This record gives sequence, C-alpha cells and structure tokens, in this order.
Amino acid sequence: MEDDTVKGFLLEKGTPGFTAEKMENKMALRAVHNALINLDECRMKEEDRLQNANSFRDTARVLRMTRVGGAWIAVGCGMGAYEHALAYAQQREQFGRPIGGFQLIQDLLVQMLGNVTASQCMVLRLSQMQDAGEMKAEHASLAKAFVTTKTRETVAHARELLGGNGVLIDYNVGRFFADAEAIHSYEGTRQVNSLIVGRAITSFGAFL
Ligand SMILES: Cc1cc2nc3c(=O)[nH]c(=O)nc-3n(C[C@H](O)[C@H](O)[C@H](O)COP(=O)(O)OP(=O)(O)OC[C@H]3O[C@@H](n4cnc5c(N)ncnc54)[C@H](O)[C@@H]3O)c2cc1C
Repeated sequence: MEDDTVKGFLLEKGTPGFTAEKMENKMALRAVHNALINLDECRMKEEDRLQNANSFRDTARVLRMTRVGGAWIAVGCGMGAYEHALAYAQQREQFGRPIGGFQLIQDLLVQMLGNVTASQCMVLRLSQMQDAGEMKAEHASLAKAFVTTKTRETVAHARELLGGNGVLIDYNVGRFFADAEAIHSYEGTRQVNSLIVGRAITSFGAFL
C-alpha cells in the first residue's frame, strides 16, 4: 500500500533487504551496541504494520515519550558524576589536606549540585505532567534540552575536579563525561528540541 504517509512496521531479522551493521569506535555509551540499519526494498506483510501509526504525528508521540526517558538518563548521568567527584574531593589530598576543603573545589561541587537538583525537579515535574496526561511535546523538549545542557556542564566540572585522573576510565567521571555527549545528541539534539519549544512559545515555526 502506498499513500505517502509515515508508517511503522515490525521487521523480522532475515527479511530480504535488511542488514544491520554494528557501529564501531563509539566514544560514548560504549556498553550499548548501536547498529547501522539498512532497509533496501524490504517488503513487509500487512499484519506486521502498526495499525495506529499513520502519520509523523504518531511518530512524534513516541519521540515525546522517549525524550522524557532521555531527560531522566541525563539526570542520572549528572548525579553519578557529582557523587564520584564528591567522594574524590573528600579523599584526594594536596598541600596536606583533602581538596574538598579548598574553596574553589567547593564551588565546583556546589554548581554541580545545583544543576543536578534543578534537573531532578524539572524532570520530576515533567513526569507528573505526563502521568496526568498534560505533557505536550514542548514540555518534553524543554526538559530534555535544558537538562542535557546542564549535565554537560556538571560532567565537565567533575572531570576538571579529578585533575589528571579525570581522563582515566577507572575513575568513572571520564565515562560520564563521554556519555553526556551522546545523551545530549540523541532523542533530539539541543537545537532541534529548542526549535520545538521556540515554535510553541512564539507560534512561529523556524523549521519545516
Ligand atoms: C548513542 C546514540 C544512539 C542513537 N540511537 C538511535 C536509535 O536508536 N534510533 C535512531 O533512529 N537514531 C538513533 N541515534 C541518532 C540520533 O537520534 C541522531 O544522531 C540525532 O537525532 C541527530 O541527528 P544527526 O546525527 O543526523 O545530526 P544532524 O541532523 O546532521 O545535525 C548535525 C547538527 O546540526 C544541527 N541541526 C540540524 N538541523 C538544524 C536546524 N534546523 N537548525 C539548527 N541546527 C540544526 C543539529 O542540532 C546538530 O548539532 C542515536 C545517536 C546516538 C549518538
């Protein structure tokens, strides 16, 4: 059936024309295997078509939900970086005392805690709105864009706080630092989520 509308399908592995190639050399979320999926003239049965997915509007409904998940993942990433940085600041000694006792280190920790706390509150509110059936696309986009931006700042502070050890995977914050980059880009980049919010608040769409 061809009607020029977006559709969704369940595709069996092994369908002629389907290939999935593992993407190598990721610098972030290395534990997650991502595949480059190619669909070349795949033919599918009508019973494998998702009957309620009939437009990009239906696809956008899925994205709205997955953006909430992306925002929560960013919250967890920031929390992990903060907790590891705090523990490190309490045990790492320089100039005869734990670095956590230095004013500038405390400032980094406080900025991280502020980001994490604001992000937790924002995404909790988002989930409450979702549960109440009140969440719109722009709410999910605002939270996803804001929280991942704050998380990027948080993980950068954590990495900085660990000095040279911050680039070693063994100290964990390097992993959070790298993962924040992927989280920032998937489920809609900051720019694309900003465009969704921008359209909602101005009533002018800056993209198609
Ligand atoms: C770890 C990981 C897992 C992923 N998993 C999946 C998955 O399971 N399924 C899936 O379908 N995709 C997946 N993706 C892909 C992801 O959704 C895309 O990478 C993301 O949406 C950005 O698209 P792009 O890479 O094509 O960037 P592009 O669209 O090429 O954008 C490049 C840059 O240009 C900016 N840009 C683009 N358009 C505009 C505009 N109009 N105005 C201003 N700036 C703009 C973007 O914000 C970005 O900064 C995954 C990505 C990663 C990193």
